[in-house]
Amino acid sequence: MPATAGSTLISVRNLSKIYKPKRSAPTVALDDIQLDVAEGEFIALVGPSGCGKTTLMNILAGLVTTYDGEATVGGRVINGPLPEVGVVFQTPTLLPWRTIEQNVMIPIEVQRLDRQRYTERAKKLMATVGLGGFEEKYPRELSGGMQQRAGICRALVHDPAVLLMDEPFGALDAMTREFMNEELRRIWLGSGKTIVFVTHSIPEAVFLADRVVVMTPRPGRIAEIVPVDLPRTRSLADLTSKAGVEATTRIRAHFDQVAAID
Ligand code: ADP
Repeated sequence: MPATAGSTLISVRNLSKIYKPKRSAPTVALDDIQLDVAEGEFIALVGPSGCGKTTLMNILAGLVTTYDGEATVGGRVINGPLPEVGVVFQTPTLLPWRTIEQNVMIPIEVQRLDRQRYTERAKKLMATVGLGGFEEKYPRELSGGMQQRAGICRALVHDPAVLLMDEPFGALDAMTREFMNEELRRIWLGSGKTIVFVTHSIPEAVFLADRVVVMTPRPGRIAEIVPVDLPRTRSLADLTSKAGVEATTRIRAHFDQVAAID
C-alpha cells in the first residue's frame, strides 16, 4: 500500500458468484473473496483465464448485480453502475460516427452533467494523454494506442474516484503497451485515483501496481496478495531490481504450480 494511501474505498467481503446456466452445470466463478482497496491505491489482478477476474470487475462496475456477500465503494453497496466508478474495457469501443471529443464526453451526456464545464476537462485530459489536436478526428483516424487513450479519457472525464481497467492494453503491440503502462502510471500519480487493473502479464502487474492480487481458478479464489516494494516514481528498468524480481518470482510461483498463465 503506498505511503499516501488513504482509507478503504473499495471493500469486498465474503464475495461469491455462482453462474447457473440453464443447460449446463453451475460454475463457481468467485469463492469467498475478501479484498480492501485503499483510496489512491493501484491494485492489479492477475491469474489464468477462468479465475474470475472479469466477474470481479463486472461486480465492481455494477454490471453483474447478483452475487453473494458484500461489495461496496465508499460505503455504498454496488447494485448497478455508480457515478464514482469509471471503466476501461479490453477494446476502446469508441462510437465510429462520433469524434474523439464527442466519444470522451459520453459519460457527461449519460449523467446529464454540465457540458461546458466538462468540455474543458475533456480537452485537458486529452492533452495530458497526447491527444491534443485530435479532438475533432474520428476513431478510424487514430492508432490502436491512441484509441485506447481516448477510452481512458472517457473513463476519467466525469472525475470518478475509481478506475476499473480490464486488460486495457492486451490488444496493443509490445512497444505501445510499454508506453501506455508508463503513461498510465504518470496519469495515476498525478490524479490520486484508485485503480483496479486486470492483466495476464506479470511484469505489467508488477510495474503498475502497489499490490498484486493473485487469483487461481476453479473456484476463483485469491491465492495471495503480493506487495510491490518499488518506488512510486518507477521505470520499466525497476522490474529487474531486487524488489521487482522478488515480486515477480512470488507471483509466478503460483502459476508454476497450477498451470502456465495464458
Ligand atoms: P477470467 O476473467 O479470469 O477469465 P471470468 O470471470 O470471465 O474469468 O470467468 C470465471 C468463470 O465463470 C469461468 O469458468 C467462466 O466460464 C464462467 N463464466 C463467466 N461468465 C459466465 C456467464 N455469464 N455464464 C456462465 N458462466 C460464466
